[in-house]
Amino acid sequence: MAAAVKAEAYGHGLVRIAQALDADGFAVACLEEALILREAGLTQPILLLEGVFEAAELPLCARHDLSIAVHHPEQLRMLEHARLERPVRVWLKLDTGMHRLGLAPETAPTIFQRLRESPAVAPDIGWMSHLARADERDCDYTLEQLQIFMAVTAGLPGERSLANSAGILGWPQTHFDWVRPGLMLYGVSPFVDSLAAAEDLRPVMTFHTRLTSINWLRKGEPVGYGGTWRCPEDMAVGVAAVGYGDGYPRHAPSGTPVLLNSREASLIGRVSMDMITLDLRGHPEARIDDQVTLWGNGLPIERIAQAAETIAYPLLCGITARVRREVISSDGFAT
Ligand SMILES: *Cc1c(COP(=O)(O)O)cnc(C)c1O
Repeated sequence: MAAAVKAEAYGHGLVRIAQALDADGFAVACLEEALILREAGLTQPILLLEGVFEAAELPLCARHDLSIAVHHPEQLRMLEHARLERPVRVWLKLDTGMHRLGLAPETAPTIFQRLRESPAVAPDIGWMSHLARADERDCDYTLEQLQIFMAVTAGLPGERSLANSAGILGWPQTHFDWVRPGLMLYGVSPFVDSLAAAEDLRPVMTFHTRLTSINWLRKGEPVGYGGTWRCPEDMAVGVAAVGYGDGYPRHAPSGTPVLLNSREASLIGRVSMDMITLDLRGHPEARIDDQVTLWGNGLPIERIAQAAETIAYPLLCGITARVRREVISSDGFAT
């Protein structure tokens, strides 16, 4: 299992997560992320999912024992011209239907042959590809991609890797030698139509803040920038200290749920940089300093993503630097 820990381990903290996971290997997006893992003393195999962006990165890959994807003939040429202190491990990345990165299947045998003849390339070349629609359970596209992957690699040596989280949970035929889970490691469902609990996953991240103000407003008063929401009656409106400056989605509309003291309340008005406003009707117990949970334990991030017309990935990755991180071990103690 190669844990996808790119983008600060989906916003959870790269080194912290890599150290906590019992992973056989790691998958990252770029050299910078891989070097941070090596500097932290992690010794497992690390795969650069997009390979190198320029030839100057190759000597560092060799020195730090990083594996690289080769998805384009240009990357092959860089390897053929490189003089490295030791060969690097290569994963040949096939385009089986994502049409983003990857070698056209018909060119793969020739490129495989040239890689085998290149002194910069270690002999154990692997095969990988990426699934475009595995999160849609009733969609045959994954099977088509699988078929192409198997046809191209049939009879050729080398380890194979195809499955992301949705492949792992939904398409066991895609597992092969290495799976590459990302989102599911963080306790979030990769499927368009299910919550984490249905997949037996528990959220790793809980994002919370506090209620900083309670205001009594009259019927008809507008709330927030643009006055997009008006009080339908005399009512209490709460202010919580979180906004898009912390990574809360600016597009979350009125009605997006939050948890106030473990009960749901609704966002009202526009999300601002540092604050959101909440409908406190039905929350007579609310007091300043009460905890407000934006997502995580008790409030699936998938629901927030749906309300804000986005997906969980950018919400996780988008938590900004000013948000204080607290690590709670599985027995519930802060460290
Ligand atoms: C990010 C990534 C993964 C992990 O995807 P999830 O959907 O988060 O499980 C796997 N493989 C590749 C090539 C990726 O870029």
